[in-house]
Amino acid sequence: MSVLVLGSGQLARMMALAGYPLGISVQAVDVADNKVVDPVTKLIINNSLDRQIEEVNAITAEFEHIPEDLLELVHSSGKLKPSAEAILTGADRLREKKLLEKLAIANCPFEIVTEVDQLDAAVAKLGEKLIIKASRDGYDGYGQWRLQNKSELPALKETLSQLDLHKVPLVVEKMLSFERELSLVAVRGSDGDIAYYPLAENLHYQGQLHVSIAPAPQVDEALNQQAQEVFNKLAESLDYVGVLAVEFFQIGQQLLVNEIAPRVHNSGHWTMQGADTCQFENHLRAVKGLPLGSTKVTSPTAMINIIGCKAFSRDMLSIPGCHLHWYGKSPRKKRKMGHFNLCASDYAELGKTMHALAEYLPIENFPMLKGEAQRLMKL
Ligand code: ADP
Ligand code: MG
Repeated sequence: MSVLVLGSGQLARMMALAGYPLGISVQAVDVADNKVVDPVTKLIINNSLDRQIEEVNAITAEFEHIPEDLLELVHSSGKLKPSAEAILTGADRLREKKLLEKLAIANCPFEIVTEVDQLDAAVAKLGEKLIIKASRDGYDGYGQWRLQNKSELPALKETLSQLDLHKVPLVVEKMLSFERELSLVAVRGSDGDIAYYPLAENLHYQGQLHVSIAPAPQVDEALNQQAQEVFNKLAESLDYVGVLAVEFFQIGQQLLVNEIAPRVHNSGHWTMQGADTCQFENHLRAVKGLPLGSTKVTSPTAMINIIGCKAFSRDMLSIPGCHLHWYGKSPRKKRKMGHFNLCASDYAELGKTMHALAEYLPIENFPMLKGEAQRLMKL
């Protein structure tokens, strides 16, 4: 029983760790050189990608920006789940927007720009507060520019004129003032069965996810239903198999889709301690054609990303309910090095636990922790 993952980062690693108890062995392709590695030890297992593709019975991906020739190769094996179409949709904001429009799913107002001068018309239509996104290869806020007012437009045009916008067009979005960001992580099995985790509330800082709270506080049945209907439409239209994440902006009782991720997702890491079956196990179950596991929540959980930190003391593990997942990567600015999952009996306890954790950590890497802890304590 083995699964080959395109990409050899932390998501492949967490899939491998979730696969062990089930007897599923997970291998990863380092897309820089197409070597097949063990995603935990990073040791090379096979120099021949072709042979590995023949040997495994399922192939999946940990990220959507897969080199074209590699995607074509695994697509032609007939073993890729989710499909190449689903992966390409997540990788290209133009395809994504087209699919959302086709399925009449509410999303953020936008314009497509292939010449910098079209930005004037975009401002006239959408207003002067804009978020401009490269349609491909962006992540964690990279490949994005912000326009706060018209006076910044000439300088922005100058920057954007360096890019080949015919090759990679821009998706220009209205900068929304939403109440909060939520995401739905759910999984669809090969028989069409769907299991949903509850909505998570996500806090971003400088375009990057810092904290997720799950289940998101103050979510009523109607909001959950709305999110699940969006998931169903997308997953059914893509004949999707595996975990799919949908990011939303909440404005009043309305959810607008921000983007979709055809893979396990950072805002689903809380499930490693906070749910009966974690997203990594459920993704493996789905791509292997096994029955899906229960997504029942076992306790309110906060996931806190460890970003750009070097190795630090592990003394915070004395806090009850504090779990550390360290990815073993070399440190770099803004790089995700690991995450904490904090579990507690209710939100107020979760806030107290988060406050205790914040005492151990440098504020520059965890700027939202104390404020979020206070908010949870008051819920
Ligand atoms: P990435 O692929 O980097 O996650 P996103 O499109 O999700 O790209 O943008 C990253 C973050 O930037 C979002 O989670 C949100 O906080 C903010 N953002 C993106 N689009 C908008 C928008 N139209 N209005 C306001 N904030 C936005
Ligand atoms: Mg995003």
